Amino acid sequence: MITKILTNTAEGIETAAEYIKSGKTVVFPTETVYGLGANALDENAVKKIFEAKGRPSDNPLIVHISSIEMLDDIAENISDDAKKLMDKFWPGPLTLIFKKKANIPNNVTAGLSTVAVRFPSSNTAYELIEKAGVPIAAPSANLSGKPSPTRFSHSYEDLNGRVDAMIKGESCEVGVESTVLDVSGDTPVLLRPGKITLEKIQTLLSEVVVGSSELSDNQTPMSPGMKYKHYAPKAEVIILKGSKPQIKEYIKNEIDEKLNDSAEKKISVLTFKENVAEFSDLCTTVSFGSLTDSSEVMSNLFNSLRELDDMDVDIIYAPEISDIGEWRAVQNRLYKAAGGNIIDLNEAAVTAQAEKISESDNIAAAVNENSITEIIDEEKAENNSEEELKTILFICTGNTCRSPMAEGIFNAEAEKEGIPFRASSAGTYAYNNLPVSENSEKAMREIGLDISKHKSRQITRTMLSQADLILTMTEEHTEFLNTVVPEHSKKIMTVAKYIDLDISVEDPYGNNLDEYIRCRNQLQKIIKLIIMKLKKNGGC
Ligand code: AMP
Ligand code: MG
Repeated sequence: MITKILTNTAEGIETAAEYIKSGKTVVFPTETVYGLGANALDENAVKKIFEAKGRPSDNPLIVHISSIEMLDDIAENISDDAKKLMDKFWPGPLTLIFKKKANIPNNVTAGLSTVAVRFPSSNTAYELIEKAGVPIAAPSANLSGKPSPTRFSHSYEDLNGRVDAMIKGESCEVGVESTVLDVSGDTPVLLRPGKITLEKIQTLLSEVVVGSSELSDNQTPMSPGMKYKHYAPKAEVIILKGSKPQIKEYIKNEIDEKLNDSAEKKISVLTFKENVAEFSDLCTTVSFGSLTDSSEVMSNLFNSLRELDDMDVDIIYAPEISDIGEWRAVQNRLYKAAGGNIIDLNEAAVTAQAEKISESDNIAAAVNENSITEIIDEEKAENNSEEELKTILFICTGNTCRSPMAEGIFNAEAEKEGIPFRASSAGTYAYNNLPVSENSEKAMREIGLDISKHKSRQITRTMLSQADLILTMTEEHTEFLNTVVPEHSKKIMTVAKYIDLDISVEDPYGNNLDEYIRCRNQLQKIIKLIIMKLKKNGGC
């Protein structure tokens, strides 16, 4: 098939609209990604989309409209919630799922009784639909399974010769596919995160459920596309969770190992602009934007994955991404590209150290030279006090999540083990008297500990001087305390440092319960080792 390449002009769009009206397929730019469109009311035309992409027929398409009247022709039971969302976010990168009307052919919706609809804000997309005069069904204009196209060149590479026409337009501003929200039932369900964030949707709706994106084969998929491997470059993508030095060391080891391999593998790193220098002396490094700019990373992500493929790399190491705001969409696409391939270096380091400590007869071999008892004895000698219970002060930032959990876990364990240590906690930038965060409380309740009585505290000089040992969550906390009370620096270190680990306990604040549980698990493991060390050192 010869593909007609059209320009992004009134004339080009006019021709493209004629193609659509006559049942042909057209690639066109939208604000999210390039789309591969056909008349949504023409079953035969829609069939050509699936053929061109090699798309499984049970993965439904999104229908693109250019007016609310068009919506009334294809969908029914538009709820008040949906109307609020349409008012606020249409035209724009939000797809809504409604009960479908009979004139939408079954192959558009993969036989479902619902239809996905979007009103794009891109001028070209709008003009094309308007001129064609029919709704346009369009998935992303890539070969099925490849990263979505955000530049004309991506679609050209995948679909030239497989479609009737293509409009050559701008790069896509948003860069990931639309947010998909199912408003066909009683409670709206977020099926795919995107530029219109969960938080933005929550400002309009009283309840939104986040759909599970990890569907097993025997479940009926809520959003059919979810069960397919998506956005995957040729290379293997691996997410590395951990501190920068840990990640660097891991990659270094992998490179050394792979170089000795007969099948030499080309390793690369996809990371934030700020971190490129860290890895550029090791391997091919591509930046997808700034740590502080989710929009930039979102719009570069797919292009970066394709760029790495063009460089013929075999492995792409990529960083952990949070699920706050727009980052949720970046996380979703990147983790899907990784197909669940996530290596938690913190977890691995804690486990390895646990083995080392429990196997070691000679504890001095496993722990640092300055044992806690020595530190405490020196402090005691200086302070000239002879208290019965020694105190450990856990420090985080706000004293509402990490350090209260650490305190709770430590005190429960210490009591069980019968060691004369008790913990308290405080924050470097804390308000006084705030309750612990709801998710911390829940995560602790899961392991039978109640920290609901805890009230947050800002650190004070007295608190810091009275504590026998001050354990922080991250090096930043330690550095901060060292500038405030340099005279106590000997007894200040991260919880991990105390058991000779170079990891930090990151802030779960604002994340979902899973992240709090992950943080609690990390603290549980670390504190178990701290207590083992206190016991072995005869600190009691
Ligand atoms: P694409 O345009 O390639 O990103 O694909 C459209 C995606 O929208 C599909 O993969 C589904 O996840 C989602 N979708 C489309 N129609 C429906 C529907 N009726 N119900 C649930 N999800 C849908
Ligand atoms: Mg797609």
